[in-house]
Amino acid sequence: MNSQIHIAVIGAGIVGCSCALWLQKKGFRVTLIDPAEPGSGTSSGNAGTIAEYGCIPVNSPDLLRRLPALLFSNNSPLSLDLGYVLSHPGWMLDFLINCREHKVERITRLLGKLLAKVYEGLDPLLDMAQARDLLTQQGFLDVYRDEREFNAAKKYIQTRRRYYSEFVELDQGDIRALEPNLKIPFARGLLADGISHVLDPMALCQRYVECFLRNQGRLLRQRALEVRHGAGAVEIQLDSGANIEAERVVVAAGAFSKSIEGIPTQLLKLDTERGYHVQFGGKQHLLSRPVSWRQAGFYATPMNLGLRFAGTVEIAGYHGEINPGIIDYLTRKAQEMLELPDKPDQEWLGFRPTCPDALPVIGFSTVSEYIIYAFGHQHLGLTLSGITGKLIAELANGEDPSHNITPFSPRRFL
Ligand SMILES: Cc1cc2nc3c(=O)[nH]c(=O)nc-3n(C[C@H](O)[C@H](O)[C@H](O)COP(=O)(O)OP(=O)(O)OC[C@H]3O[C@@H](n4cnc5c(N)ncnc54)[C@H](O)[C@@H]3O)c2cc1C
Repeated sequence: MNSQIHIAVIGAGIVGCSCALWLQKKGFRVTLIDPAEPGSGTSSGNAGTIAEYGCIPVNSPDLLRRLPALLFSNNSPLSLDLGYVLSHPGWMLDFLINCREHKVERITRLLGKLLAKVYEGLDPLLDMAQARDLLTQQGFLDVYRDEREFNAAKKYIQTRRRYYSEFVELDQGDIRALEPNLKIPFARGLLADGISHVLDPMALCQRYVECFLRNQGRLLRQRALEVRHGAGAVEIQLDSGANIEAERVVVAAGAFSKSIEGIPTQLLKLDTERGYHVQFGGKQHLLSRPVSWRQAGFYATPMNLGLRFAGTVEIAGYHGEINPGIIDYLTRKAQEMLELPDKPDQEWLGFRPTCPDALPVIGFSTVSEYIIYAFGHQHLGLTLSGITGKLIAELANGEDPSHNITPFSPRRFL
């Protein structure tokens, strides 16, 4: 009987919360551990899109060519802190190796196949947590300023279409008809009508946790410091000094998963791509759907509390200081796009959990079948949260996973 088996989940971001609910669906007794408010980490500030089309990683041969220019630009969606990169060369070198054409093709194929399963994992959770009102299917619009921008993206667009074929090409008139408030006369666009987005990503986590608690789940607002594993059980040392015992543990602490002692997560080359948003309260009516200006590196998403401009990638480590240059960049681009106040009323920094090969880590730890990893979802953590939860619950239950997770195993780093 699974109800006799206790599973601890470390981390109550969207991935940990999804794992916790799926484990409950399988009948396990579950404890969720997080010192912070559930969903208040990276999962709170994302662009909210269920990006079924998002199979192409940031890694690309083109990035290799543009890297020197990016290092010195303050008008770019991608920036690197040279000091950080030089003091952590391992991740960066591996990231660059994964920018080679054949590597990118492999990553794209693996992500594309996993993304095709997104709703198998998400739908049951939305029903279970009565959270359908937080998701809306308004479609997704990708815009290109001129023919040059569009032509430069052609290869990217074709590859993406191989895994998500629903995009329809638009011209300037079509784009204006759909989004009349856009100030820039974007020349070309791609519309995917079937895409949904979340109206309040943190509220979604909280709805999951409310459901989890109704199902007799236990939430511990403490930090996990160390995991010790023995025969048939694990022990988790908490920052209060207490220990809890469980038959299995799921590590889902996002970018911070590698800070937990006792498990060799340090070998996994997990690091963080910092990302930002600025939000203009009450301005959500200016757009009808998420609009991505790919060249500028962000999404503009209408959410319950405002219009959110989220994106950018900064490789600069784990410190919590906001880079004002990136906030200025996002604010300037947002104002170029739409009529907005001088200042946003929310500025936010988050830490995407990213491995250099842009693939998540889903699978048994290399040291014990009682320790299961669920992190490293880079730009797709919200999208892939449900299917990750489902796969983790299948593993914990001793089933063959319903999707091939061998490429996501931590063993790939050995
Ligand atoms: C700007 C931006 C835009 C994005 N847009 C999208 C998008 O549109 N669609 C999409 O699918 N994804 C998007 N993402 C990515 C997505 O937000 C992340 O992949 C996802 O939030 C990661 O979730 P997580 O649960 O793994 O991590 P987190 O949300 O970071 O949660 C980890 C949790 O673990 C806890 N924790 C850390 N250490 C410990 C410890 N020792 N003990 C206990 N708990 C611990 C933390 O407090 C935190 O609550 C975006 C990201 C950014 C930054």
